[in-house]
Amino acid sequence: MIWGKGAQLVPSKNKGTKERVTDKKKAVVVGGGLAGFASAAVMAERGVEVVILEKNHYLGGRAGAWTERLEDGTPFEMERGFHAFFRQYYNLRRFLKRIDPGLHNLLPLEDYPLFGPKGDPESFSGLPKHIPWNVLELIHRTPRMSFLDMMKVNKTRALQMFGYDPQQTYARYDNMTAKDYLDSLGFPPDARDMLFNVFAHSFFNPEDKFSAADLLMMFHFYFIGNPEGLIFDVLEEPFSTSLWQPLRRYVEDRGVRILTERTVTSVEMTSEESFRVHLENSNEPVEGDLCVLSVDVPALKSIMEKSPDLTGSPSFKASIDSLDVTLPFAVWRLWTDRPPSPKRAPFAGTTNLGYLDNISIYERFEGESRRWSLETGGSVVELHGYAVPEGASEEEIKSDLKANMELIYPEMRGVEILEDRFILAQDCPSFGPRMASLRPTIETPVTGLALAGDFVRLPFPSALMERAVASGFMAANNVMEPWNIRPEPIYSIPPKGFLSWLPTP
Ligand SMILES: Cc1cc2nc3c(=O)[nH]c(=O)nc-3n(C[C@H](O)[C@H](O)[C@H](O)COP(=O)(O)OP(=O)(O)OC[C@H]3O[C@@H](n4cnc5c(N)ncnc54)[C@H](O)[C@@H]3O)c2cc1C
Repeated sequence: MIWGKGAQLVPSKNKGTKERVTDKKKAVVVGGGLAGFASAAVMAERGVEVVILEKNHYLGGRAGAWTERLEDGTPFEMERGFHAFFRQYYNLRRFLKRIDPGLHNLLPLEDYPLFGPKGDPESFSGLPKHIPWNVLELIHRTPRMSFLDMMKVNKTRALQMFGYDPQQTYARYDNMTAKDYLDSLGFPPDARDMLFNVFAHSFFNPEDKFSAADLLMMFHFYFIGNPEGLIFDVLEEPFSTSLWQPLRRYVEDRGVRILTERTVTSVEMTSEESFRVHLENSNEPVEGDLCVLSVDVPALKSIMEKSPDLTGSPSFKASIDSLDVTLPFAVWRLWTDRPPSPKRAPFAGTTNLGYLDNISIYERFEGESRRWSLETGGSVVELHGYAVPEGASEEEIKSDLKANMELIYPEMRGVEILEDRFILAQDCPSFGPRMASLRPTIETPVTGLALAGDFVRLPFPSALMERAVASGFMAANNVMEPWNIRPEPIYSIPPKGFLSWLPTP
C-alpha cells in the first residue's frame, strides 16, 4: 500500500486558486536538503523561477549522498546514514511520487526487531494497526512485563500517551523531561527500555534533555495515532541514484537552478522589497522576490544574526535564539569480509547497549551493496549511535559500537573490516524541555520570507524527514499566498489522540 487510509487533509486558510504566477517572480531557497527541495519543487511547479543555494558539494543535507571510492577503486555511493520511510509520512510520499509515481523505489522492511542488553529481541512485525490492540500486543510481547507489573503502572500518566492534544500536552508536559515522564510511569526498568527508549532516541535527543511533550507527540505520531502501523520502507538503491539525482532532474526540468558549494552568510532586504542573499567568498549576491531559509539550526542562527533586516520583531528573534542542536550522532559503515548470520534482520534497533542504537545490513535491502556482497562474499554493515556524549572520541565510539554489535551478533566477532567510513556530526535539532512555546513556525514577520526544516513547529504531529518536507511545502504556500496561488495540499495523521478529552494531570 502506498497511500494510507488515515491521511487527513490539514485545513488551510490559504484559498488561492491560480495554478501559476502571471508575472515573473524569483525565489531563493537557501539549503538543498529535503525541506529546501520540497519548497523549490512547489514554487517551480507554479511558475516561480527558483535558485537553490547549497553549501555542500552534494545535495540532500542530512539525508544527502555523494560518490566515493573503495581502496581498490570501486566507486560507491555514500550517504549520511540509514533512513526509515514510515508509511504515515504522507507529505514525503507525495513528494517522492513526483519522481517515482508507484513508489517502486521503496522496499518494505517486514521485520524490525529490537535488542536489549539481555539479548532476546522483541519484534514490531505484524503488530495490529489499531488502538488498543497494537498497544496490548506490544506489551504482551515485552519480556519481563507481568500482569502484576501492569497493575503497578501509573495509569493516569500512561493514559497521556493515548490523549495527545497539541495544546494541552505541550502546556502540561513541555516543562518535564522525557526521562522524568517515563520514570513516573512505573514500568519495570527492562520493559521501560524495550517499550520506550527506541521512541525517545529516534529523535536523536537524550531522554534527560528531551521534552516529555515532544515524546508524547512522537508516541502519537509513530504509534498510537498512526493508522498505517509501525512499519517502514527503505530505498532499495543508494540515496543518490534513487532520490537526489531524480529530484535534481525533476526540479531542473521545471527551471530550478541548483548552485552547490555556495555558503550563504546573510540576507539583506533591498529597497524594492526583495531579498539580496550574500555568499561566502563572493561579491555576487543572488536576488529574489521570495526567500525560504531551509538550512540546519546552526546555519539559521548564524544567517539571522548577520541579517538585521530579517529580525522583524523581538519575539521572532527570541524564537530563533531559542533553537539549539542536540548531542552528536555517529554513523559507522563497515565493509566486512563476511556477513552476519542469515537469520539477522536487515535492520535492528537496540536499546541500552552503549552508544549503539541500530544495525543495518545493507546488502539485505540495497542494490549497490548487494552487488558488492555477491561479488566479494562480504557484507556492508552500518552502525548508528545517537545522542553520543560531546567530546567522545572517534576511537572510543567505534570500539563501543563494535563491542555492542558483537554482543548481539556474536558471529561478527573476528570479522575483518576491509574498509570503513565514519561520520560524527552535531546538526540535529534539540527538542529540549521548555522549547516548544518559542519554537519558530514556517511563518516570519517579513513578507516573502519563510522558514522550513525539521526544527520548525507544525500545527499537526510530524517528525524528521516528514516534518522537513511538510514544512517545505508550507513555506512555499506561505510565500506565494499574496498572489492567490493554489496551495500544495498538506496531509497529517489524526491531529489528536482518541483520549484527548481526558483531563491532563
Ligand atoms: C544518521 C541519521 C539518520 C536519520 N534517520 C532518519 C530516519 O530513519 N527517518 C527520518 O524520518 N529521519 C531521519 N533522519 C533525519 C532526517 O535526515 C532529517 O530530519 C532531514 O533530512 C532534515 O532535512 P532538512 O531539509 O530539514 O535539513 P538538512 O537536511 O540539514 O538540510 C539543510 C541544508 O542546508 C545546507 N546549508 C547549511 N548551511 C548553509 C548555508 N550557510 N548556505 C547554504 N546551504 C546551507 C546544508 O548543507 C543542508 O544541505 C536521520 C538523520 C540522520 C543524521
